[in-house]
Amino acid sequence: MVASEVRALFAVASRPEVVSLAGGMPYVTALPLDSVGELVADLVARRGTVALQYGSGQGDPALREQICEVMRLEGIEANADDVVVTVGSQQALDLVTRIFIDPGDVVLAEGPSYVGALGTFAAYEASVVHVAMDDHGLVPEALAETIASVARQGRRIKFLYTIPSFQNPAGVTLSAARRRQVMEICRRADVLVVEDNPYGLLGFEGDPMRALRADDPDGVVYLGSFSKTLAPGFRVGWALAPHAVRDKLVLAMESAVLSHSSFAQLAVGQYLATQPWREQIKSFRELYRERRDTMLAALEALMPPGCVWTRPAGGFFVWMTLPEGLDSKAILPRAVAERVAFVPGTGFYADGSGARNMRLSYCYPEPDRIREGVRRLAGVVQQELLT
Ligand code: PMP
Repeated sequence: MVASEVRALFAVASRPEVVSLAGGMPYVTALPLDSVGELVADLVARRGTVALQYGSGQGDPALREQICEVMRLEGIEANADDVVVTVGSQQALDLVTRIFIDPGDVVLAEGPSYVGALGTFAAYEASVVHVAMDDHGLVPEALAETIASVARQGRRIKFLYTIPSFQNPAGVTLSAARRRQVMEICRRADVLVVEDNPYGLLGFEGDPMRALRADDPDGVVYLGSFSKTLAPGFRVGWALAPHAVRDKLVLAMESAVLSHSSFAQLAVGQYLATQPWREQIKSFRELYRERRDTMLAALEALMPPGCVWTRPAGGFFVWMTLPEGLDSKAILPRAVAERVAFVPGTGFYADGSGARNMRLSYCYPEPDRIREGVRRLAGVVQQELLT
C-alpha cells in the first residue's frame, strides 16, 4: 500500500487561501441540515434500540428495499435479497477485490481510472491492465484487443472495472451504443464486469442512462453509493451481485466488520422515507451543472493554447491535458504557491502514464472561487510554457 496522491494533498488544499480543484468532496452545505438533524433525533427516540444494536452482515432489509427503488431510476430491476450494504462503495470495491483476486490476477480498468480503486487493486496485488478511453468512454475495439492480448499471455482476467457514467477522473460517459458493445465483448470472453456508479444520477442533461447491470444481471457486480446523492459522512454504499458472489460478499463483510453501522443505515433509510430525496438530487444536479459551466467557461477564456480538456455531462470532474513537454506533478508545487491545487494525472494510472494530465474538480468550490482557481492555474501553466 502506498499513500494516495489525493490524500497527501488534502492537508495543503484545505488551507483557506488555496482554491482546491483537487478533492472530490460533495457540496454537503446544500443539504437540509435541520431536517437531517430532526430525523436523526426522531430515529433515536423511536428506534434507538435497533439503531444502536449490531445489525446483519448483509445490511438492513428495509434499506435494501429502498436501494432497489433508487437503482430503478437507472433501469435496474433487482431483488433486495441480492443487495449487500457496505461502508461506502469503497468497501464494496475492497470486498469484491478480496473475494476475486489472487496476487498476479489481471484486472482491466479504464486508463485513467479511480485512484481509490487502483489503491485497492494494488493492496491485493492485482495486475492492472488499462484499456483506452476517449470522449465516449471505454473504446470497445481496445477492450477486445486487450482481452485477446492478455489471453495470449496465458494470464487470467478476473474482471473489468469500469465507471461508465461521468467517470472519475476523466469526466466522460460511455455512450448507449458502446454500453451494448462492451457488454457483448465481456459476455463473449466470459469477463465479469464491476460497474462502479456513484455519479449516475448526477447527469446534467436528460434522464439517467441505463446501467450496464440493467441488461445483464448475471454478468455484472454493480456498486452504488449515497455519498454523492446524499452525503459521504453516512458512509453508506452497496453492492448488487449475482447470488454466488453476494454470498461471498456477505461472508467477507462479516469477517471485515461484522456488520455495517445500524445507526447510519437507519438514518439513510429514514432520510429516504421522509425527505424529498429526488428533488434533493435534482438540486444537486443544478448546482453542479452551474459549477461545470463556470469551470468550462473559465478554461476556455483563460487556458493557454495547447491545453485540452473534457466536457463532462455530469459528475464532478474535468480531465485536462497539458501541452507536450509539461509535467503536471512538477507544476503542482508552483500551483500551490499560487494558491490553487489540482490532482496530477499519474495517480490515476497503474502504469506511470498521465504525466501531462491533471484532474480538476468543480464540485466543492463556489463559482467565484472556481473562476479564480482557473485564473491562477492558467497563470502557472502560461509561466511554465515560457520557461
Ligand atoms: N468510486 C468512485 C468512482 C468514486 O469517485 C468514489 C468516491 N470518490 C468511490 C467509488 C467511493 O465512494 P464512497 O466510498 O464514498 O461511496
